[in-house]
Amino acid sequence: MIIIMKPTATREHVEELSALMERWNVKANPIYGEGTIVIGLVGDTGAVDKDALLRDPQVDNIIKVQEPFKLANRKMHPQDSLVTIGKDVVIGGKKIIVMAGPCSVEGHDQIIDVARHVKADGATVLRGGAWKPRSSPYSFQGMKAEGLDLLHEASLDTGLPVVTEITNPAHIDLFMEKCDCFQVGARNMQNFELLKELGQVNKPVLLKRGFANTMEEFLMSAEYLMAGGNEDVILCERGIRTYEQYTRNTLDISAVPVLKRMSHLPVIVDPSHAGGIYWMVEPLAKAAVAAGADGLMIEVHNDPAHALSDGAQSLTYDSFAETMGSLRAVAQAVGREL
Ligand code: PEP
Ligand code: MN
Repeated sequence: MIIIMKPTATREHVEELSALMERWNVKANPIYGEGTIVIGLVGDTGAVDKDALLRDPQVDNIIKVQEPFKLANRKMHPQDSLVTIGKDVVIGGKKIIVMAGPCSVEGHDQIIDVARHVKADGATVLRGGAWKPRSSPYSFQGMKAEGLDLLHEASLDTGLPVVTEITNPAHIDLFMEKCDCFQVGARNMQNFELLKELGQVNKPVLLKRGFANTMEEFLMSAEYLMAGGNEDVILCERGIRTYEQYTRNTLDISAVPVLKRMSHLPVIVDPSHAGGIYWMVEPLAKAAVAAGADGLMIEVHNDPAHALSDGAQSLTYDSFAETMGSLRAVAQAVGREL
């Protein structure tokens, strides 16, 4: 952290301020230049009260030179973290993991059928929403506990581990029994009470980026989970809101290399919620794999035209099979497997 003093700051005040830094256990190094005085702070500056410093009339500005996330930071953990979902699906290694399934669980036969099809085409994790955080209270809200039971049944039928979205900390015990990975949706990325509770569980969390959040805010949410003791965090880029109207969201493909550089956590991409339309899923998924994503989350439906949620962006079985084929070629081209 660097404190930039106003040109009118006095040497005496700079010395006083530097001495004060001891209370936060950081070392202050004042540098006196012509017309500029800066104080470099070294040590763990996490506790430094930036707001108090900015109220000092002789302080002009403060610049952070260290990221505020520690546990999620690659500097603290240079090697890639591997996260295991269920018994043996490892994310973060050479193999690219595909999580696929419907936006919402809609019934017994539907989820079993989708699970069997996506498994046959190479998906290794089943996705499906039971509690659906919809923009409108009049839209289908999900099958809730019954949906969770059906996902569990589909998991037993196919052997695929299950990822599903949790919206309420009160449901954690139920989810612990019925799913293999908690999904925190874009709308809850900064639901800090939910994150704190999930920091205490012994099961992986797939954290989706909020559609109006920076990558640093995203990593700070991962930090909440990790600070609670849960280090099994998977980051998911799912598109952010921009001025563009042609897509549902704008897939921030740069998030993949940036997050992989800043953090050791696995990074996956959801091309379905990013593009918002079925024909965009394959090209966006290919771009994600080429950019270095460790996995993908793709919506697949038995009958997209009649889906209770997100039918427009859901792939049919045939288009999922085709997409998987072209993803294998891209994965191979970049030295990965799928
Ligand atoms: C989902 O994956 O079903 C979902 C609602 O995604 P997001 O939170 O990214 O909108
Ligand atoms: Mn959806």
